[in-house]
Amino acid sequence: KFISLEGGEGSGKSTAIVCIQRWLDAENIDYIMTREPGGTVLAEEIRGLILASRDEAVDDMTELLLMFAARAQHMSQKIRPALEQGLWVISDRFIDSSFVYQGRARGGDTEKLNTLTEWVVGDNKPDATLLLDVPVDIGMQRVADRKNADRLDKESIEFHEKVRQGFLEQADLEPERIKVIDASQPLEQVSAQIVTQLDALKTA
Ligand code: C5P
Repeated sequence: KFISLEGGEGSGKSTAIVCIQRWLDAENIDYIMTREPGGTVLAEEIRGLILASRDEAVDDMTELLLMFAARAQHMSQKIRPALEQGLWVISDRFIDSSFVYQGRARGGDTEKLNTLTEWVVGDNKPDATLLLDVPVDIGMQRVADRKNADRLDKESIEFHEKVRQGFLEQADLEPERIKVIDASQPLEQVSAQIVTQLDALKTA
């Protein structure tokens, strides 16, 4: 099975990953954990190029194409081989982040994103995507003084609002695949929602 995890800043993806790992270990399921952008040496280098602060702004189209270049490498070197071996693959972010960040939030054309996704991902879309949804003000409080602060500072509240709505619109388009988790709840309740989805996926 292939599961991706999505959500805006401060939605609690890192905590959710720990919860998913515990569940997989308890179920004795063999898996790999990975992330986007990144997941292989080259794709992580591309991630560094995209996320680094520099004097020259990253053009939106450049960013979009680098994301898909990284994804092509990730698919061929890591995700497809793991799925072929029968491992579960858990990816911290995947295609929906592109539809939301490069697409809805930064103006990328959805049709072109669909074409690139068809080309790069093909039939290997996630079996399930867990979307951690949290109101922007709560998410922002959670990340107040954290890692990507530089890049985050560049984005307005409106941008993060677009990201949140963008993910919810993605979920409306593909409700079978994308499961919305209410991530504003206390940790135990968020974990319980995640485990419910994982149990359902295991028997699916
Ligand atoms: O998942 P994480 O918070 O580590 O993501 C790193 C950064 O990459 C985030 O700030 C996110 O906004 C950005 N990103 C992006 N487009 C993607 C994936 C991630 O802008 N497709």
